[in-house]
Amino acid sequence: MDSSDRAKGARAPALGFTSDNIAGASPEVIEAMVASSAGQASPYGADDLTARVERKLGEIFEHEVDVFLVPTGTAANALCLSAMTPPWGNIYCHPASHINNDECGAPAWYTNGAKLVAVDGQSARIDPAGLRSVARVKVGDVHSTQPSCVSITQATEEGSVYALDEIEALGDICKASSIKLHMDGARFANALVSLGCSPAEMTWKAGVDALSFGATKNGVFAAEAIVLFDASLAPEMGYRRKRAGHLFSKMRFLSAQIDAYLTDDLWLRNARQANDAAQRLTRGLAGLSGVEVLGKTEANIVFCRLPSATIQSLLQAGFGFYHDRWEQNVVRFVTSFATTLEDVDNLLAQVRRSADAYQSGN
Ligand SMILES: *Cc1c(COP(=O)(O)O)cnc(C)c1O
Repeated sequence: MDSSDRAKGARAPALGFTSDNIAGASPEVIEAMVASSAGQASPYGADDLTARVERKLGEIFEHEVDVFLVPTGTAANALCLSAMTPPWGNIYCHPASHINNDECGAPAWYTNGAKLVAVDGQSARIDPAGLRSVARVKVGDVHSTQPSCVSITQATEEGSVYALDEIEALGDICKASSIKLHMDGARFANALVSLGCSPAEMTWKAGVDALSFGATKNGVFAAEAIVLFDASLAPEMGYRRKRAGHLFSKMRFLSAQIDAYLTDDLWLRNARQANDAAQRLTRGLAGLSGVEVLGKTEANIVFCRLPSATIQSLLQAGFGFYHDRWEQNVVRFVTSFATTLEDVDNLLAQVRRSADAYQSGN
């Protein structure tokens, strides 16, 4: 690539499909951070940019919200859960959930020992019937940890998306059992554009009390918003965030990221790009011999089964992705806001070459 190509933005196709956090950040976000670095601003979130982000999130969700910005999704999840459960509480989650597998015990630590209880269901979604039965077990028994909250992931770790009536069904069970509902929205925007509903419909209208509103995976550098719809959770959250070491004194840099993310629908445009890339990948894979697409592609994660020879040929060509983790020959490809259609076509071309060679017995 010569300098004129670079000036036009041309680049070699990106080969990484391991996760959406291997992408950088949208230029608008970085420019906003640079712009916000000039001059003085009140510390610890008492600045104008933070107030603007709180206002914008209130408008987007059509609800009064309490907003607490933090740098990671793990912090957002663990802090939300800690405000929703006593140390003797049960947090119901899917066995495949991030809080159960990928947060190094943070939910148990932040809650001072609450218990994660796995409730299974298809495609990484909690089954309402399963939740209904566990939410009644040993209520009021001093010997047992007590039902206290449910955490669902939207979009899920498998790239599926809860339909609105599925969230509502879980929300109704929570209400009937007096337990709180948390949503891990690390890929909130991907799910939202997939359903084509409003942010309000996907959250508080369906019974969600607290949301980890993800942004890092969808185009910011490092910022996530805890969004509380239940105002009763708010008073202690400020203390919990500070005590956990997640209250940034230069909060404006987190706020600048979220502000840019919400400006001119950047968050929705980025999510559409990622989802469209995944759809294109699924359509391309579906027609190839030896390839089996697994499940529906509802967000930006694609699962498929590939012949071992194809997996090896992709790895040799430099492509990055997870494989053989779930089952033999099962591959996961994740697209991001920065994945171009050319990136997808380049990946498909390599799969096709390998499939052709496979068929002709080479
Ligand atoms: C990435 C991710 C998070 C947040 O992870 P951090 O690395 O702590 O930012 C939370 N939940 C899900 C489902 C994720 O995929």
